[in-house]
Amino acid sequence: MANDVWALAEINNGKLAGISLQLASKAAELAGQLGGSSAAVALGTNTQAAAQDLGDCGVKTVYASEGAVYDEYLAQPHVEALAGLIQQHQPSLLLFGATNYGRDVAARLAARLGLGMEYNVGDVAVEGGQIIMSVSAFGGAQQVKATFKGDGATRLLGARQNAFPTTRVGGSATVENVAAPAAPAQGAKLTGPFGTEGASGAGHLGKAPDGHDIWQPAVTTAKLEEAQIIVSGGRGVGGPEGFQQIEALASALGASMGASRAAVDAGWIPYERQVGQTGKTVKPTVYIAIGISGAVQHKAGMGTSGLIIAINKDKDAPIFGFCDLGVVGDLNVIVPQLTALVKQRKG
Ligand code: FAD
Repeated sequence: MANDVWALAEINNGKLAGISLQLASKAAELAGQLGGSSAAVALGTNTQAAAQDLGDCGVKTVYASEGAVYDEYLAQPHVEALAGLIQQHQPSLLLFGATNYGRDVAARLAARLGLGMEYNVGDVAVEGGQIIMSVSAFGGAQQVKATFKGDGATRLLGARQNAFPTTRVGGSATVENVAAPAAPAQGAKLTGPFGTEGASGAGHLGKAPDGHDIWQPAVTTAKLEEAQIIVSGGRGVGGPEGFQQIEALASALGASMGASRAAVDAGWIPYERQVGQTGKTVKPTVYIAIGISGAVQHKAGMGTSGLIIAINKDKDAPIFGFCDLGVVGDLNVIVPQLTALVKQRKG
């Protein structure tokens, strides 16, 4: 088996998701270190444009499969196409994103071909010719090193969002067009937004099982993982109404809105907004944490942000141990003032 490393690109509504470029960059890097070749697999619409971007990140080949069968989300055609390519070319490693799409497709692929899989990988390196992964364990308190056992079969590695940087090297890939499989007669279909943040319709979404109102913010349709500025609220915000002032600040800044798990678990904001170990991993230029204590599991998802600003009334809150700028005070006083100031400065 060649030491080839592949990346599974993710195309949502004809648009290449940012994680695809991170995976392609890492695939090119690992293949170089292993002495193999690199490739990406792009399934969906606009695959030729995607191939250009993926090639720019250093992969040598893009297997592009264009077809309406991929448009409405259905896992089987993706698995079908990938399984055929893997059996034909037998890469050593396939990188996929630990996203809804990546996990769904990779899990089915692993079951179909009997392949080993690891996901939730925060970093990966080649040491002594071996793939060594860094995976969080014990609720995110520890990072453990893991590797795959055995030889021969393709290994599937699921990387967290923003685990790897995008490195544009100015390359161009050879595109190999692959026929799309036929739509299965009876496919398990998912309804609703898939692979998107689904933040198009603001307003009340309904009730959580415990009776809390769940609402959809109107702030931005930008993917949380790709946002440059994030304003996040935690339990200290006090309830769904309290999130309106978080939303107002985010809106004034042109930011995306995030949340801690405590706020999500309380049903104040949808899960897709959760930042942290069991939520999204984000890396914005500016991250503003409001009424968030800074638990290790929250930090796991935002600790590598550029500038971290915290607003908390408890001067001993853990977040003050790792933020760049800390404001001790009542968020109900500070946030409206800050929002007014931002609006005034922006004119
Ligand atoms: P709290 O810890 O209750 O903090 C609220 C803060 O608000 C306090 O610091 C308080 O001083 C401040 N505050 C209160 N009122 C005001 C006010 N008026 N003005 C200013 N400040 C105020 N958490 C995540 O966030 N993301 C995850 O993905 C995640 N995954 C987890 C996975 C596992 C396996 C486990 C065990 C836990 C996970 N958690 C996660 C939960 C995590 O441990 C914390 O419980 C959670 O992050 C706490 O959320 P919080 O900071 O909003 O709430």
